[in-house]
Amino acid sequence: MQILRSNKARYEYEIHALVKSFYPAWDLKILTPESVVKDRKILEIPPVMELEFQDDSVKFTVYDERHDRSNSYTWWDTDRIDDDAYKNAFGRFFYTSLQEETGISLPWGNLTGVRPTKLIMNMLEAGKSENEIAAFLREQHFVSEEKIDLGIGIAQREREILGALHYEDGYSLYIGIPFCPTTCLYCSFTSYPIGVWKERVPDYLEALEKEMRAVAQMCRGRVLDTVYIGGGTPTSLTAEEIDRLLTSLKNTFDFSTVQEFTVEAGRADSITEEKLKVMRRHGVTRISVNPQTMKEETLKLIGRQHTVKQVTDAFYMSRKAGFDNINMDIILGLPGENKEDVRATIEAIMVLAPESLTVHSLAVKRAARLSQWIGENGITAYNNTEEMMQTAALGASAMGMSPYYLYRQKNMSGNFENVGYAVKGKHGIYNILIMEEKQTIVALGAGSISKRVYPDGRIERSENVKEVAQYIERIDEMVERKRVLFSD
Ligand code: SF4
Repeated sequence: MQILRSNKARYEYEIHALVKSFYPAWDLKILTPESVVKDRKILEIPPVMELEFQDDSVKFTVYDERHDRSNSYTWWDTDRIDDDAYKNAFGRFFYTSLQEETGISLPWGNLTGVRPTKLIMNMLEAGKSENEIAAFLREQHFVSEEKIDLGIGIAQREREILGALHYEDGYSLYIGIPFCPTTCLYCSFTSYPIGVWKERVPDYLEALEKEMRAVAQMCRGRVLDTVYIGGGTPTSLTAEEIDRLLTSLKNTFDFSTVQEFTVEAGRADSITEEKLKVMRRHGVTRISVNPQTMKEETLKLIGRQHTVKQVTDAFYMSRKAGFDNINMDIILGLPGENKEDVRATIEAIMVLAPESLTVHSLAVKRAARLSQWIGENGITAYNNTEEMMQTAALGASAMGMSPYYLYRQKNMSGNFENVGYAVKGKHGIYNILIMEEKQTIVALGAGSISKRVYPDGRIERSENVKEVAQYIERIDEMVERKRVLFSD
């Protein structure tokens, strides 16, 4: 564990995120006078970094491991600037100090948030020109020229796509199906093995139907723009269960205004011809068939328990069933994969020619078994590279796709981003909505989070419990939470 001591409880989230971006393998803990430390031994660990906030200055000291050498950086706040300006100026000082200390420049500079395009989108909507936005990102946040172009291009495309939506009087629906055939090693979502839970699926669907009826009442008079069924893996349900779910959904909500209806089929080992037919019959417009990688060995390693052939079979089966908007997800930075593996995956996907490709950088979250596995096997998971990202971007471009949404995650391999690419007219609108937080999303099912977006941009949330049995038992409470959120 590495300790950063600060004499003030200030900007801890930003400090933690930035230090982790420069030192991704660190298990960083920030200690301030307000920290509650249960394990007293932590207090005896010599800090690797120290921050001293004074009235007119901030001193940042970095020690080497043996604590016999240190570098100090000082910022003099001679202007006594106000809170926001102080925070921004501190962010610049802290980033440039780390940059000097490590000799590394981060592609997204000192931006630590998960939604860099939201910042750009807000500036575009405030009437700023592309040049003004580029200068702001370059000078205030040290974003690379390449990411500036990527971010502005995506925000412009998002504006066009979202133009047809009902921001204020509309909403989107998310339905969570928290079951999967097996649990992937890197999974940090709400997911339970279907084999163990199959007896409870009817109860789960019943609870969902109750939630649907209540939500339909609450949202009367609003326009339903998009519907997304995710998880987990929705297609881990049987064809009959999917039929029941989609029938209830369509009987409860007015689908006449829906512009996009996605089911994240996801795992190839859960897709059958019968399920695809059911989805087509109910008017699903977009599905995902996610390989993550087209390398057999890695699929086994990460616990996907399906083969590359199953992915290609599921893809062609989906085409045959009539789907003309298929997304594929891949992950870069998977353990043991090099740039040649990424190239091979991209080439295999190019043969299939999906309408969209979502490129994720592996994010190692504490909860995921992958994190433990990496520790036990001494493997570094942070091996995504600019070259791999480029390979994916070039592959997407060769398939006629452009980047249309982007987000970042904490602990992301190589401090890169996740990018969604799509051919014209086949973008995942819901994906943009989730990132840009422009529209109310009502989320149903275990572990889902609803977001109410007010016209002034304010956002309020309501969470459902994660545990399936709890969700079923406490469904009335989940409905009540939503009633409170949508009470006026
Ligand atoms: S398919 Fe997705 S949700 Fe299911 S276990 Fe794998 S990573 Fe988790």
